[in-house]
Amino acid sequence: MDYDLIVVGTGGMGSAALYYGAQRGLKCLGLDRFPPAHDRGSSHGESRLIRLSYFEHPDYVPLLRRSYELWDALDANLLQRSGAIYCGPADGVMVSGVLRSAQVHGLDVRAVSAEEHVQYRRAEDAEAVFEADAGWLPVEQCVQRYLDAAVALGAEHRWGQTVQRWEPESEGVRVITSSCSFTAKALVIAGGAWAGDLLPELSLPLTVVRKHLHWYRCDDERYRYGFFYELPQGLFYGFPASNGRLKLAEHTGGDAVVDPLNAPRDMCPVDAERVADFVAEYLPGVQSERLEHKTCFYTRTPDEHFILDRYPGCDRVAFVAGLSGHGFKFAPAIGEALVDLATRGTTFTDISFLSHQRF
Ligand SMILES: Cc1cc2nc3c(=O)[nH]c(=O)nc-3n(C[C@H](O)[C@H](O)[C@H](O)COP(=O)(O)OP(=O)(O)OC[C@H]3O[C@@H](n4cnc5c(N)ncnc54)[C@H](O)[C@@H]3O)c2cc1C
Repeated sequence: MDYDLIVVGTGGMGSAALYYGAQRGLKCLGLDRFPPAHDRGSSHGESRLIRLSYFEHPDYVPLLRRSYELWDALDANLLQRSGAIYCGPADGVMVSGVLRSAQVHGLDVRAVSAEEHVQYRRAEDAEAVFEADAGWLPVEQCVQRYLDAAVALGAEHRWGQTVQRWEPESEGVRVITSSCSFTAKALVIAGGAWAGDLLPELSLPLTVVRKHLHWYRCDDERYRYGFFYELPQGLFYGFPASNGRLKLAEHTGGDAVVDPLNAPRDMCPVDAERVADFVAEYLPGVQSERLEHKTCFYTRTPDEHFILDRYPGCDRVAFVAGLSGHGFKFAPAIGEALVDLATRGTTFTDISFLSHQRF
């Protein structure tokens, strides 16, 4: 065998898996079509929110705790604990979900103070809560940091390699790219928007959608916290302002994409208008002029929970797919879990709720 472990796709999840494989002393190879921290997949656009009181499901919290720990261990300057405000109806999914996670796991979530609240306009009849441990991550720096740290530990990283297919061999797996073929005892597949192409026999129920990020001009002092709004028209979120710029986006919606390699990267007028309406209504003092726009992909599952599992009938292969637009914050815990699944068949916490067999 050429390697102990091959990681296919070295974006958000794969870069972390490559590092944790190398940290365990494994001889590792990472393969990607694009260069490190590129902008053609799902891990670019300056920043990603990280939250602990997870409204999506309390079972994510152990993975989040592990991720907080591992982000800090990788580099104490990456995770910025700015705090975040969640605003939505008491009987909606978000505030009730945040409070449920906080209650189950004893997390610090409290009512929003007047000082924090001055920055945002609360929707009528909405509740607002504040989580001090929430924050954000500089997304491209995180990916680059993982790749540099993996290479420093002896991993090989080859980009410009398009993986065409992989196949089991008696002692492991063979990975075939457009120009080479490699063998390894174990394989991790972290293909993001292309996960379905790398796992064709599983017919995973994945939908890739094009999503948009927008930057507006504002006063940094006024917008110091991350925020998430649940409104009748959808979920909107944003980041603490920096250098007079506020980044925000709509979490819901998005236009389906058949071929992510050739998807348009221009602004979608419908999305732009929905975000502009949100800014005008809820973000006082933010100027209406849009400074910048970027596109990125979500890969959604039907229930919007991740798929993180071993490949059926091939125990030495682990994969992640369908991160549904909320996966980046978990890169450390998912990267570590992928290596554990592919090499030992176990994970530090129960992740059966993320099994592909639920579909
Ligand atoms: C606009 C936007 C906002 C988001 N906001 C947040 C947020 O605030 N918080 C949060 O936690 N998450 C957020 N997410 C989600 C998060 O960014 C993604 O879930 C995560 O980055 C996906 O990582 P990944 O490794 O699965 O995909 P990627 O980082 O795209 O990596 C997949 C890699 O696989 C490679 N690849 C695929 N197929 C092949 C092949 N055949 N051969 C070679 N290489 C291949 C690709 O080139 C790519 O590098 C957001 C996503 C978007 C798009």
